[in-house]
Amino acid sequence: MSNVRTNTAEQPAYPRVGEVLLSAEAIASRVDALGAELTTAYAGLRPVLVSVLKGSYIFAADLSRVLRAEHDIEFIRARSYAGSESSGSVLITGLEEVSLQDRHVIIVEDIIDTGLTLKMLTKQMRGLGAKSVKTCSFLCKITDRRLDDTPPVDYFAFEIPDKFIVGYGLDLDQRYRHLPYVAELNPEKPT
Ligand code: 5GP
Repeated sequence: MSNVRTNTAEQPAYPRVGEVLLSAEAIASRVDALGAELTTAYAGLRPVLVSVLKGSYIFAADLSRVLRAEHDIEFIRARSYAGSESSGSVLITGLEEVSLQDRHVIIVEDIIDTGLTLKMLTKQMRGLGAKSVKTCSFLCKITDRRLDDTPPVDYFAFEIPDKFIVGYGLDLDQRYRHLPYVAELNPEKPT
């Protein structure tokens, strides 16, 4: 991974936060490039970004500011994980308040792991009359746990190894979302 940094003196020490996999600088530069790609792809289409909370809140805000094509933004919520384990089911709320009729939709996710959340989201969005539905995820985990029928991830910023990670919106039991970088979890240290 590029720009590897550790949990150093300039940053507060969080014992559970381990090696930095993506620095704030590396993230900003890649999100810029992704914004440019989407700007070209969606010019004149006024897409609607559907940000999946909570994990994608920072990515969605950053992406929205570098997407230089007019767009709207909506927020829905998906819950699956408890601690660092997937619960195996996904609860999606807020979609009923969003109008997607005749819109070009970009689902903005934090990370694709097993693909279950994306699968459930896509399923629920079918029939809402969108002109197109694409997915833009901050991270894509390289894992053999990915479900075979996971919908395609059209855009993503980074692929990451099969580790539980925190920061840039991603949490461990609601902690560490605020970190401006992405780090792996330190399993052996206490919180
Ligand atoms: P999936 O349904 O693809 O298995 O998982 C999707 C959701 O699980 C993500 O939107 C994210 O909230 C959570 N998730 C998956 N992997 C990680 C991870 O490594 N770290 C954190 N903090 N959350 C994860």
